[in-house]
Amino acid sequence: MRPVTNFMKMTIVGYSKNEALARMCVAAFASQLDPTIEEINDIKAAVSEAVTNCIVHGYRDTIGDIDIKLKILGEDTVYIKITDKGVGIADVDQAMQPMFTTSPDGERAGLGFAVMESFTDSLKVRSKPGKGTSVTMTKTLSRRG
Ligand code: ATP
Ligand code: MG
Repeated sequence: MRPVTNFMKMTIVGYSKNEALARMCVAAFASQLDPTIEEINDIKAAVSEAVTNCIVHGYRDTIGDIDIKLKILGEDTVYIKITDKGVGIADVDQAMQPMFTTSPDGERAGLGFAVMESFTDSLKVRSKPGKGTSVTMTKTLSRRG
């Protein structure tokens, strides 16, 4: 395990308008590792998908808190954990399949987890129906400094 060399946590209210705020805060935290534009864009895209899922699926027609924990591991890795206390996911493996969606209106592609997976180095999803969901991602940056 690499040592934690920086840490922060924040809680946002799950309004849609706060998705951009969450994405920018994580990007700002990650910027201490001097990431490339591409790395920052990858992080923003992954965070955007995770936070959007909390808002549209976790809390559906309600509003709840989204907890975001950020760490720097060692010298070059950003750790991002995004948690809601919403409805949870009954079958996580199924939910993570590309193109799987429970969206009834056909507006969603079922690609959020696929985006998180491809834009980060590790993705872990833990969930309990009725309790909520947490998504943990890490990304090691090139440290071009
Ligand atoms: P897209 O992300 O392409 O708009 P999507 O959100 O349906 O579509 P994913 O992000 O891959 O696709 O999520 C797949 C499914 O997992 C969702 O349809 C939903 O059923 C479930 N899910 C994902 N995140 C959560 C969450 N935080 N709480 C409850 N269910 C979730
Ligand atoms: Mg999604």
